[in-house]
Amino acid sequence: MRHVPSVRRQIKVDETCSLCNEYQETTLHILWLCDHAKAVWQSVLCFAKLYQRNFRSFMDVVEAVMEQRPAFTVAFFSTIAWSLWERRNRIRENQPSWPLHEIGNRIKEMVVEFFNAHEQVSCSAPRIPRARWAPPPAGSYKANFDVALFEESNFAETGVVFRDCMGEVIGALSQKILLPQSVEHAEALAASRAVQLATELCLFDVIFEGDSLRVITAINSAEACRAMFGHIIEEIRGHSLSLARCQFKHIRREGNSLAHALARRADLIADNDIWVEELPIDLDG
Ligand SMILES: [Zn+2]
Repeated sequence: MRHVPSVRRQIKVDETCSLCNEYQETTLHILWLCDHAKAVWQSVLCFAKLYQRNFRSFMDVVEAVMEQRPAFTVAFFSTIAWSLWERRNRIRENQPSWPLHEIGNRIKEMVVEFFNAHEQVSCSAPRIPRARWAPPPAGSYKANFDVALFEESNFAETGVVFRDCMGEVIGALSQKILLPQSVEHAEALAASRAVQLATELCLFDVIFEGDSLRVITAINSAEACRAMFGHIIEEIRGHSLSLARCQFKHIRREGNSLAHALARRADLIADNDIWVEELPIDLDG
């Protein structure tokens, strides 16, 4: 038997932002909240406006941009984010980097050039249809589950919603979970909670839908899951035996939006909430 060290090796890293030397260097800080990043974003009107909102993670900023903006703005946004990260790495290594006040204009030129060059290609590119939630067949139920991660807290949040063949909500849950090791780990926990909740709600014919392909594939695989979250996959398989019929399916994120909204809502609550046959007022309708 191999010797397993009892104490995990820890690599010490300097977590203070290397640009402002003031705050913890989270992704949200370095790409959005740090004065260096702010100076660039605030030089572009459509991004400056986003500072009226409080974001809990940089992914939330990305989502806000993706939701409403045309392709050019999304490309502009991504390229600025990339350049801020690049700049941070260059400064840490004492390499020359672009002055802050020039970044906005330089990136705009790059993106305009890119769009001009690719205009004809993008006109003929096939559009990927948006994934939409579809109701389950009559007599069965569909459970959508998702997670939201907040970089600056020690929690992830899970959301689960059960709907019937008419699309009516049968039950919904928002719950905080402690310190998952990865997004997939959190997704696996959300799936596990969804399966347990099915038995608690006496729903025995259920299609479970999540947007983590890796987790859905692991549950559906005939083989033992060797990932860090393998024990949770085993637990899901075990619990699902108590259901008469169940399937696990992958859905793209747009089709899973209600579960995602519930997960983000868990942040507002103390521990967990289960709503049966109705949604919290702010998500209803
Ligand atoms: Zn900083």
